[in-house]
Amino acid sequence: MNLQNLKGVGNKTIEALYQANIYNLDDLLTYYPYRYQIEVPTILDNTNSLEIVVINATILEINKVGYIKKNLNILRMKIETNGKIMSLVIYNRAYLRPNLKIGQNIIAIGKFDLKKNLFTANNIRFGKLEEKRIIPIYHSIKNLKNIILEKIISEALKENNDIVDYIPERYIKKYEFLSKKDAINVIHKPIDEDLLKKAKERLIYEELFLFLFKVQYLKKIKVSGESIIKNIDKSLILQFISDLPFKLTNDQLKSIEDGLEDFTTKKRMNRLLLGDVGSGKTIVATVLIYANYIAGYQSAFMAPTEILATQHYNSIKKLLEKYNINVELLIGSMSKKNKNEIMKKVLNGKVDVLIGTHAILNENLLFPNLGFVITDEQHRFGVNQRNILQEKGVKPDVLFMSATPIPRTYALTIYGDMDTSIIKEKPSGRKEVITHVKKESELKDVLYQILEEIKLNHQIYVVAPMIEENEDMPLQTVINLKEKFDGAFHGKVPIEVLHGKLKNKEKDEIMNRFKNGDVKILISTTVIEVGVDVPLATMMIIFNAERFGLATLHQLRGRVGRNDLQSYCYLICNEDVKRLQVLEESNDGFYISEKDFEFRGEGDLFGEKQSGDMTFHIADIRKNYDVLMRALEDVKEWIDIDEYINLTSYVKIIEELKFNN
Ligand code: ADP
Ligand code: MG
Repeated sequence: MNLQNLKGVGNKTIEALYQANIYNLDDLLTYYPYRYQIEVPTILDNTNSLEIVVINATILEINKVGYIKKNLNILRMKIETNGKIMSLVIYNRAYLRPNLKIGQNIIAIGKFDLKKNLFTANNIRFGKLEEKRIIPIYHSIKNLKNIILEKIISEALKENNDIVDYIPERYIKKYEFLSKKDAINVIHKPIDEDLLKKAKERLIYEELFLFLFKVQYLKKIKVSGESIIKNIDKSLILQFISDLPFKLTNDQLKSIEDGLEDFTTKKRMNRLLLGDVGSGKTIVATVLIYANYIAGYQSAFMAPTEILATQHYNSIKKLLEKYNINVELLIGSMSKKNKNEIMKKVLNGKVDVLIGTHAILNENLLFPNLGFVITDEQHRFGVNQRNILQEKGVKPDVLFMSATPIPRTYALTIYGDMDTSIIKEKPSGRKEVITHVKKESELKDVLYQILEEIKLNHQIYVVAPMIEENEDMPLQTVINLKEKFDGAFHGKVPIEVLHGKLKNKEKDEIMNRFKNGDVKILISTTVIEVGVDVPLATMMIIFNAERFGLATLHQLRGRVGRNDLQSYCYLICNEDVKRLQVLEESNDGFYISEKDFEFRGEGDLFGEKQSGDMTFHIADIRKNYDVLMRALEDVKEWIDIDEYINLTSYVKIIEELKFNN
């Protein structure tokens, strides 16, 4: 059954769904609500209602729509609710006006001001709320209203017959899980909170089980992964290291050692290099690239974005140039002619090191002699991509790098199929970023500090959780802050905004102007790249810090303090949030990640929501730690009995992992 065949789904809806990566029934049914709203009809008494409430009302009079500004209109009506007559206003719902009739029953959600006898609604719906209802709330999809999405999903649920259940029979029995079909029904249309809990539990377990199966399967067959033994003259490596402009830390040296061991033995490298932002992973990779070059092989280095690829290209080229090593960059935005030229050079073996985005492995690019592949920011890629190279029929050594420090137990679970090297030590001479938690009322102090930094020709990052205002979430916005800052500095400081709605080209342009110092303050959502190096950026200011998880805040903070200048971070919030003290006290990513997991990802509204190893539809490895560990035990037990070989669903999974072994 296709999405197109669902009742009420037209081309526009299809387009909206595709935009949200929903391509089939399965995707749709696993587009789970991220929260639920429990609606109980309230009877307004003679008090203000400061909390948002839901009332049943009847329309008595409807005014004309008032237009206040370009993007703001107001709809006003008189309503009756439980014998009381009052005014109701709602903003930006002009489009509802033609459908409203006198005498109509509506459900209104909002707040009541007794003195003004005014109900300010965030939302209204037609009908009457008879009793308590649990309403699923989905992450909003552009051009698709929640209520429409709810309807389409209802239709899809009717078709939900051949949905695959990945939990093996024995564990369904063991834990008395709901059937997959029931669980999916309940998660989208809950009638009872207990049942909802059971449905969630089951879906979380399944998701983790499947994920862990992949990891454990990769581990199981990895043993057979052999590679060529590389011949490397160690004295050359030592010379290279001593010629570096700085002294490597012990952890860096140990990681290089680990890599060389992989290179020079039959075992194929399948290694994760874990280290905090700025801990110096790139230099470790560079030394290994050099070693791979000495052995006579090409290297490929993949970064998740063009900005990062370009940055790596510049720094790696600088270090390798003097050894006559040919380093080239290949990214999508280059001219076709340029790209072709480089591809030809790669094919002819004239490029020793190719740096680019992930696409470099797909662009029909042939490496005659590829011996080493590095993937930066591994956590952005999914487990299916871990073996993408095998497909090309080559068996290079592979190094994954990640700046998401996670506690050891989790690392073993998530990256259980890889060996790990860890960099804990910071390069010497690095000053810790001084961090303060501030109330929004203390903003003036912060503005003075900003000015001080700007006088020193330093630069400032400002992060806000939202782009524009949204009535449901009263949070700071990039747009508002730009106005506020322009006002505070009388427009004399060059400020730019950066957010996900801009085109890639615009983003790159702004980022480049910030990098070269033309822009002094960069106000953005969390889109600023994890690894971006702007040496003169010395201050990071994060608004609504309470809405971010500790790990996310630490990642953001990692964008300053990347050299020997003293850097600062201000976490601005309106409430006292105890966990933020962890960041005042520590700059140690591993310690912070331990704490973050202890707080179970609290506040992590804007965490790793993209794609990659840490993201699931419903599971959260921090919040669902117990389930994770239970599923791991089960997977290990199950994988040993080889039952999966006979299950079509699992055969498919294995195929997706793309193996030729
Ligand atoms: P990561 O990739 O782990 O985020 P980088 O490799 O980009 O970190 O290193 C951040 C900065 O620190 C770079 O400018 C790099 O040249 C420098 N650096 C790396 N290792 C050392 C070291 N041992 N001593 C001093 N500076 C270092
Ligand atoms: Mg990096």
